[in-house]
Amino acid sequence: MTPTEILKQYFGYDAFRAGQAELVDALTSGRDALGVMPTGAGKSLCYQVPAMFLPGVTLVISPLISLMRDQVQALRANGVPAAFINSSLTEAQWRRVMSNALGEQYKIIYIAPERLLSPSMRELAQNLRISLVAVDEAHCISQWGQDFRPSYLDIPKFVAGLPVRPALASFTATATPRVREDILAALGLRDPLTKVTGFDRPNLYFEIKQPKDKYAALTQYLKEEDGSGIIYCSTRKEVESVAERLQTDGYAAARYHAGLPDSERSRAQDDFLYDRIKIIVATNAFGMGIDKSNVRFVIHYHMPQNVESYYQEAGRAGRDGLPADCVLFYARKDINTALFLINQSENPDEITRNKQLLNQMERYCETDGCLRRYILHYFGEQTAGDCGNCGNCTGSFDETDVTVDAQKILSHLWRLNKAGKRFMFTHTVDILLGKSEDFTDLSTFGIMKGVPRHYIRRLTNRLTALGYIYDDGYLSVTPKANEVLSGSVSITIRGNKPESSVRAERAKKRAEAPGYAVSESLFAKLKELRLEIAHEEKVPAFVVFSDATLVDMCVKRPGAEEEMLSVSGVGQVKKERYGRRFLQLLREEKPDAEPPETPPEFTAALFWAQVEIEDRPLQISRAADNINTVLIRYGKAKTSGMKLNALLIEAGYLENADGVKLPTERGLALGVTTVERQSAHGNYTQCLFDAGAQRVCAELALAAL
Ligand code: ADP
Ligand code: MG
Repeated sequence: MTPTEILKQYFGYDAFRAGQAELVDALTSGRDALGVMPTGAGKSLCYQVPAMFLPGVTLVISPLISLMRDQVQALRANGVPAAFINSSLTEAQWRRVMSNALGEQYKIIYIAPERLLSPSMRELAQNLRISLVAVDEAHCISQWGQDFRPSYLDIPKFVAGLPVRPALASFTATATPRVREDILAALGLRDPLTKVTGFDRPNLYFEIKQPKDKYAALTQYLKEEDGSGIIYCSTRKEVESVAERLQTDGYAAARYHAGLPDSERSRAQDDFLYDRIKIIVATNAFGMGIDKSNVRFVIHYHMPQNVESYYQEAGRAGRDGLPADCVLFYARKDINTALFLINQSENPDEITRNKQLLNQMERYCETDGCLRRYILHYFGEQTAGDCGNCGNCTGSFDETDVTVDAQKILSHLWRLNKAGKRFMFTHTVDILLGKSEDFTDLSTFGIMKGVPRHYIRRLTNRLTALGYIYDDGYLSVTPKANEVLSGSVSITIRGNKPESSVRAERAKKRAEAPGYAVSESLFAKLKELRLEIAHEEKVPAFVVFSDATLVDMCVKRPGAEEEMLSVSGVGQVKKERYGRRFLQLLREEKPDAEPPETPPEFTAALFWAQVEIEDRPLQISRAADNINTVLIRYGKAKTSGMKLNALLIEAGYLENADGVKLPTERGLALGVTTVERQSAHGNYTQCLFDAGAQRVCAELALAAL
């Protein structure tokens, strides 16, 4: 199968996304690679598809146990043989994984970095044919990042100890140039393909709110939102209090912070993943391990300390690509809390740096401009224009005319400048507020007495942004300010509009978004069925199908099992596993639909009449595909390349020579040939099956049913 065929067959997707194709290409041809792509862009597929394409096994190093479990569950649900190795395995489980791995039963094995250098892992690694080592969350190797994990430094040692060096892939969503350099150097990537895609997440809606009563604003929001979401608070105490109030008010919410016992934390996380609760109230301790794709909103109850953290946390919304909200509740008080936390440090340089970062965060909260644009500029990305999908672009604000106050500030500055003085903001405003010892004679002294400082700050920022004030740390008025002083231009700032009108507009926008123009009741029923199946299989709901897949199902409304494959996210295995039940539901919703076709009874004759035998010599997996096409049609259990290999060995056509399968004399006589292929770790031998040999494969598969 080609990578594109693998994408369709196993993952149910028609096309690679931006960046994926190039990375997959590099890795399948054995080249190292670094992928820097935002959350939800689809980094996992960049190594999972090559893993299915390459011979042998792919090792994935991933920092969190919960994340591994989810990923492995998701892969298995797609029919990809995968396992994980971490400290959560019992002795017996570990032995089973070990023996399965040696028996080449897995294509992908996830490993915790702490285990890499353990003697048992080293031994296993010596005996595996490893084509690819993929490092997820690769920024954990950088000491400059916030998520530094010392055990990530074991990765290069581990790789150096392998009998052949596999291709090395690394992925991260957060990489400043410095962290990127670190990853390349520390991991020892060789001539890697580096792919950095844009940071934009178009499906996320950003908004800043300055509610007088945050809790009231929160419940108002929750009233109209029935999806899953995260509420971030800056302190444990706040987490406790918000969670408790929500619970008292009847919301299914859990709390999560580092001060809670492990057991409660992992229960909260599981409850959230498995959709048993919809809301989690948490500190920033919650999140890195969360791969839940259907988080519909992330609310920051307080302003975070910097834009990086904000974007990372908010970015946990909408991984599935469907519309999701990122709302920040901002209050001036948050700045004091943040400053307090920053000042805890004993390193003066760190304090200075963090204050600068905080300042940029504050400006995000204060800006009247496009919020997305602000964030993307922050990360050094140019944007074509305003996004049209944030609170500032969609006009969740009322304009207030503040020309008179603007004139006061500008004329004050004009007077100071004329006297040859330029001061920093604080001193400038002190005079305006009548709080300074000097300049008491200036006619603008105290003319804004009693006006909140933050309002003057906001207005000054706005005037600076509009080019009326020049600010290089010291403020001066520009010639352009005459427009305002003379009254020919008026100045406005924005305040929050009433919540109800904003929500109504949002609801309208959401309804217009592609994919949301679906029947809400059908969508709800599909979600119910998904939850039912998830309970039966004891996996999180998003492992069964993502929200995006259910939405696509609503849109495409497949009527027959084969049509199910046209739904994004439905691969072969999921179609077989869940197709019928979902089709049933879709049919019930569509009373005029034709009754389901029951497949005719399966017979060997029917099988032979339909199985495709190709003239060209095929790889074993391709031969298995041809056989499966027929088996699937009759609801029979599928075969696989691995199963066929085992059958061929049993029947004496192949033999296993040090993990490499080679034809025996009998096999050669049958028409099994071999070719030399190149891969990352040198050459390897692959068996090919001509028409006669394909027929024998089909016979064996049939007999094994
Ligand atoms: P990341 O690790 O970059 O944050 P994931 O690998 O978790 O992102 O993928 C996010 C979501 O996007 C998943 O639900 C995944 O199935 C989906 N996805 C990935 N690639 C594609 C694609 N080519 N087409 C459609 N959906 C995709
Ligand atoms: Mg990921």
